[in-house]
Amino acid sequence: MRIKAVAISVVVLALLAGGGTWWRIAHRQSYVSNPVQNSNSTTTPPAKNSDGFNKTKYSLTDPTSLWVVANKQHPLQPVNYVPADLTVPSVPLVSPGADNMQMRVATASAVTQLFAAAKQAGLNLEVVSGYRSYTYQQTVYSRYVTRSGQATADQESARPGYSEHQTGLAVDIGAASGKCALEACFGTTPEGQWLAANAYRYGFILRYPADKVTVTGYEYEPWHFRYVGTDLSSEMHQQDIETLEDFFGVTGGTVYKAAP
Ligand SMILES: [Zn+2]
Repeated sequence: MRIKAVAISVVVLALLAGGGTWWRIAHRQSYVSNPVQNSNSTTTPPAKNSDGFNKTKYSLTDPTSLWVVANKQHPLQPVNYVPADLTVPSVPLVSPGADNMQMRVATASAVTQLFAAAKQAGLNLEVVSGYRSYTYQQTVYSRYVTRSGQATADQESARPGYSEHQTGLAVDIGAASGKCALEACFGTTPEGQWLAANAYRYGFILRYPADKVTVTGYEYEPWHFRYVGTDLSSEMHQQDIETLEDFFGVTGGTVYKAAP
């Protein structure tokens, strides 16, 4: 009987060990098979660890660059920049047909993967706002100024030429239910929490975190995601650095610098 017990123990241990290996392989494969990671690898190399990450690989000032930093100290140059490859992703849109449902091809591709992954997690997302042109942003910003005055407007909306939405790399995302759309409470919804935890896997960062208002110059926006590519989003996640300003050592903050 003792021999039989030992034999059973060996089998159980083997199963446990094998199960562990299987889990690790499955986990690794799910990471490697990340479709955005793969599709992105045609233009960017695989993510490196923090020691080997090349922070100068892409421009931080060229508006066509995946890593361009647009904030109150860094207006887009030129201020009326228009991306050349705007498209509309095949995902649920809050305003189908509207100009601000467009985004750059890379952003649209990543949004499609992001929404598909959310759906697998049982969550339905929709695009609330993507690309916004200089003139569109003029309208949005002046609406804020009229409603709340310039000081408050500057905390809630970008002046034209300073908006990340003008790059075609930013997207405001909401729950398909419409709950807490463009409101801080979106961060407490299952959709908002899933996005905050998983968007980096698809190349996005939550651009305006609650604890970085003085760095980014904007209030907490749990709905606003910025596409930077999986190389950078993974590196920032790994280093636990939330903002582009902190990661690249770029000035930001709540004070506007005049456009050149
Ligand atoms: Zn936004």
